[in-house]
Amino acid sequence: MTIPARHLPDTIAALATPGGTSALAIVRITGCDTNRLLGEILGSTPPPRTARRGDYRDRDGAVVDDAIFTHFPEPHSYTGEDVLEISCHGSPFIAQRILDDLYARGCRPAEPGEFTRRAFLSGRLDLSQAEAVMDVIHARSERALAAAQAQLRGALGAHLRALTDRLLDAVAQVEAGIDFPEEDLPPEDRAGLARALATLRAETGRLLATRRYGELLRDGIRTVIAGEPNAGKSSLLNRLAGRPRAIVSAEPGTTRDYLEERIVVGPHCLRLIDTAGLNPAAVGLERLGVVQTAERIEEADLLLLVLDATRPAPPLPTALADRLTPGRALAVLNKADLLAGAPVTVAPAGLAQVTISALTGAGLEGLVAAITRLADGFRPADDPDGVAINARHAHALAQAQDCLAGAVKKLETGAPAELLASDLRGALSAFGEISGKIDNEQMLDRLFTQFCIGK
Ligand code: GDP
Repeated sequence: MTIPARHLPDTIAALATPGGTSALAIVRITGCDTNRLLGEILGSTPPPRTARRGDYRDRDGAVVDDAIFTHFPEPHSYTGEDVLEISCHGSPFIAQRILDDLYARGCRPAEPGEFTRRAFLSGRLDLSQAEAVMDVIHARSERALAAAQAQLRGALGAHLRALTDRLLDAVAQVEAGIDFPEEDLPPEDRAGLARALATLRAETGRLLATRRYGELLRDGIRTVIAGEPNAGKSSLLNRLAGRPRAIVSAEPGTTRDYLEERIVVGPHCLRLIDTAGLNPAAVGLERLGVVQTAERIEEADLLLLVLDATRPAPPLPTALADRLTPGRALAVLNKADLLAGAPVTVAPAGLAQVTISALTGAGLEGLVAAITRLADGFRPADDPDGVAINARHAHALAQAQDCLAGAVKKLETGAPAELLASDLRGALSAFGEISGKIDNEQMLDRLFTQFCIGK
């Protein structure tokens, strides 16, 4: 049973900024005792949402710090309860003294994600928005942040509300048939219902299709740098990373295993993987590296095929050639600084290509633009307003789709209205799981423990 947050008995406190020394630290408090604590500590209550400077005095009256107090009375606060934020000097010792004093006055330490959980419980956020708070905090790129912010503003929730409303209409129609069994659904109603269910399935499918893009935004796009030894793969990784990360050497076969580095390229976050060259004559350790390269290529979302622009392109191993499709691969003709005229090498047919010099950085902007175009291509063309769902949403949507498919079948075969209604109710509860309209403490526990304390 969900309890409205403002009726929760305890007041919680936590550090909302990372531990360690910093310019400022913020201690956050939420719950029914907040106003009492504010009065005791500061001696007065500042106007709502207005920063007030004052001494933090502990229970013995000793000044702990010169701090800034901001009071957010319910319900206009993050949690929907009374909230107090205390901004103090960023010394771990000061923050801990404040927390210890708050615990002595009756607060308890917040659990991970508990502030956001209270925001959800008091209806300030639906569950998809609560998850988006975490996505916003962890966003590693412009695109990831944009998707997280859209979800925080309620884009996914709005879609689900629309789907749920339409599904409720269908349920009402079918349930009317249960109440008056002698009046079977007239054919025109059946046809209307079939159309409504088809649209619901299509829209559910549209949301589901954003899953892969969502994963790529949250985890980073697995981008493998492949090519013959000495083409400049490690140099390219270092150039994109903006620092020496991989060993660059004129001796072929120096990258024997693979390196992975998360790098922001344009508006995307890539998990850039530098592999051992695909040297067919490799032996020993280098051979092992070549095997690993083939595995990384297999798993790649994007492939950057690095070719030495000054030499004819080498024959490519089939493990690589088979995966060089225009939507996910790019030919990078490197060592442009050594060219007097046009590149000698030719990119595999159909692949977009860019010419760069990993050594001088020439052509890097073109490379970033080409990578951005490919990465943006992962976003479904009819992506509903920047929605990019996560694995939990996908699981629920797939369940809803199964239920809707079952309902369509029952409608077609003229199954009893009760069975049809039961499938539709299944779809309703699957939609409800995404925005958190169903009570499932275990699911909430699992979700909110992924948050940090103080969030
Ligand atoms: P990898 O074996 O494909 O990882 O290649 P490396 O990045 O280790 O580079 C092999 C050699 O080519 C090194 O001597 C690099 O300095 C050189 N190299 C890499 N990129 C360029 C480039 O753009 N221009 C020139 N002139 N040399 C490069």
